[in-house]
Amino acid sequence: MTFYSLKKLSKSYQNKSALHQFSLELEEGEFISIVGESGSGKSTLLRIMAGLEIQDEGEVWLNGNQILNPKKKLVAGYDEIKLIHQDYQLYPNSTVAENIARPLLHYEKEYTKSRVETLLRQFGLLDFRDRFPRQLSGGQQQKVAIATALAIEPEVLLLDEPFSSLDTIQKHQLISELGDLLKAMDTTVVFVTHDLDDALRLTDQVLILQKGKTIQKGNSQELCEGP
Ligand code: ADP
Ligand code: ADP
Repeated sequence: MTFYSLKKLSKSYQNKSALHQFSLELEEGEFISIVGESGSGKSTLLRIMAGLEIQDEGEVWLNGNQILNPKKKLVAGYDEIKLIHQDYQLYPNSTVAENIARPLLHYEKEYTKSRVETLLRQFGLLDFRDRFPRQLSGGQQQKVAIATALAIEPEVLLLDEPFSSLDTIQKHQLISELGDLLKAMDTTVVFVTHDLDDALRLTDQVLILQKGKTIQKGNSQELCEGP
C-alpha cells in the first residue's frame, strides 16, 4: 500500500483545465520536487493535496484512508498535511522558541518543551531561540517556519516556493541545510517550485508538471536523457 497516493486528479476552472488526471504515489519519508512554470497547475495541485480545495475528479489517499472526495464538503486543511508558503508569517512578537511551541500549546508541557528542544537542535537554531523573527535572516525565518510546521509531526509537508523571497546566497545555504535535514525525517515532503535547478539541488526525484500533467519524472540523469 502506498503511503500517500494521488489518483487521477482533475480540476477545471470555468471549463479550463488546471489539472488533468494527475497521479502520484509517495512512500512514507519520500522527498520529491514538483517543477512547473507559471500556470502549469502547481498551486491547484497543492491546494488539493493540502485539502484546501476539492478536485472535480480523482482521489487522495493517506495511510490507507481516503482523505478527500469530490462529494465531501471541505472548509479547512488537515493536521496531517502541512503547507508552507513563501510568505509564511511567523508571529513577530514571539521568539523563535515560542513560535515553534505555538502549535503545541494544547500538548503536555513537558512534551512541548522537549519537542521544541529537539526541533531547535535539528534545525541548528539553538543559538537563536530567544530572538524575534525580525532579528533573523530570511533563510533563518524560513527554517523556523518549517520547524514550526513540523512541530506536531505531520505526515506530509508541502513546501510552496519556500525560497522565493530569499536572495541567492541565503537560498543556496538553506537548500544545502534543508536537503539533509528533510531527507533524514520520516515526514513525506513535496517541494514545489518553478526553478528546476533548485529542485535538482534539493531532491533526487523531480517531477515536471506542464499544463496540469506530468511530462517527466526521475532523477537528474533521467531528466537529462529526456522522456
Ligand atoms: P502562482 O503561480 O504562485 O500560483 P498565480 O498568480 O498564478 O501565482 O496565482 C495566484 C492565485 O490566484 C492562485 O491561488 C491561483 O489559483 C489564483 N488564480 C490563478 N489564475 C486565476 C484566474 N484566472 N482566476 C482566478 N484566480 C486565479
Ligand atoms: P501555477 O501555480 O503553476 O501557476 P495554477 O494552479 O495557479 O498554476 O493555475 C493553473 C491554471 O488554472 C492557470 O491557467 C490558472 O489561470 C487557472 N486557475 C488557477 N486557479 C484558478 C481560479 N481560482 N479561478 C480560475 N482559474 C484558475
